[in-house]
Amino acid sequence: MAGGGLGEFEIISRYFARAGARAAAGTTILGIGDDAAVLRVPAGHDLVAAVDTIVEGRHFLRGCDPRSIGHRALAVNLSDLAAMGAIPAWATLALTLPAADPQWLEGFAAGFFELAREHGVDLVGGDTTAGPLTISVQILGVVPIGEFLRRSGARPGDLIAVTGTLGDAGAGLGVARSPQRGRDPHARALLRRYEFPVPRVAFGRAARGIASAAMDVSDGLAGDLAKLAAASGVAAVVDVDRLPLSAALRAAASPEEALDQALGGGDDYELVLAVAPAAAPRLAAAGAETATPVTVIGEFRAGEGVLWTRGGRAFVPARGGFDHFGGASTQFTD
Ligand code: ADP
Ligand code: MG
Repeated sequence: MAGGGLGEFEIISRYFARAGARAAAGTTILGIGDDAAVLRVPAGHDLVAAVDTIVEGRHFLRGCDPRSIGHRALAVNLSDLAAMGAIPAWATLALTLPAADPQWLEGFAAGFFELAREHGVDLVGGDTTAGPLTISVQILGVVPIGEFLRRSGARPGDLIAVTGTLGDAGAGLGVARSPQRGRDPHARALLRRYEFPVPRVAFGRAARGIASAAMDVSDGLAGDLAKLAAASGVAAVVDVDRLPLSAALRAAASPEEALDQALGGGDDYELVLAVAPAAAPRLAAAGAETATPVTVIGEFRAGEGVLWTRGGRAFVPARGGFDHFGGASTQFTD
């Protein structure tokens, strides 16, 4: 282990092998400390697994608050489980650190475990290595057999619904990069949405058996809705004037900028769902039960692709979705 006075085993025992949450769904037979973890999935459930890596300079800015990094590393994974309607239970953490900086580790672990406790996620293992700052979290959850949500279930005639508000995190990244970093309350609210995204776990679970398809919006609605439509073999038609925008975004950005962030900004970790019109009231009720705003923004039709409209005319988003190898303009290197 490079740098600092802390060795690999001290890092693990001091910061990560602490008594965390009990797995909310399922039982941890063996957690951190052996060669592998042993986990028991409750009867009648399937195991749901996802992994996401965040890299300094690509997914978060150099010098970013380590609490935010710890939070986001887990939140992006919880969001994937939310989109599946799954209940989170366990996580493993592969941490690559340039140096063993106790202050950084303290902040990172605080951000990670705060969110882990909130969702009953038990950290059951991982890997600690030296190298460029990179964090991989694997999340494991459970879902009653056959009840998971997926991207491919949208049918012509289904409504398109989104949770929360869109574009805040993209605008918040702009705040994070600006020299006067969040001086006014609107800018601070946007920055918070970027640094501490709230995965829609309770809502995703409540949407099981109601929504016909779901996915999380991590790379901007424009690209992500296109993926859902393609997976389902349908077309999507969206009136961009119906996109839910927060008061903070409306106050901090011009209408054009706000729309651009909502469609192309990314990092919002809201859910986009398909729901049959007859089931829409039940989806609204699921939103009310879980304190999750739900907005219908359009509908699916036979065909392919996404048709964006504004005032009855076709509208072309300035940016498509984010693609790490597509040379998109939203990536940053410092
Ligand atoms: P091995 O060499 O068998 O892979 P390690 O010595 O790397 O095991 O890790 C010892 C134990 O600590 C294992 O149970 C492993 O899962 C856990 N662990 C290592 N790094 C982390 C981490 N960053 N967070 C949580 N658990 C970790
Ligand atoms: Mg081993």
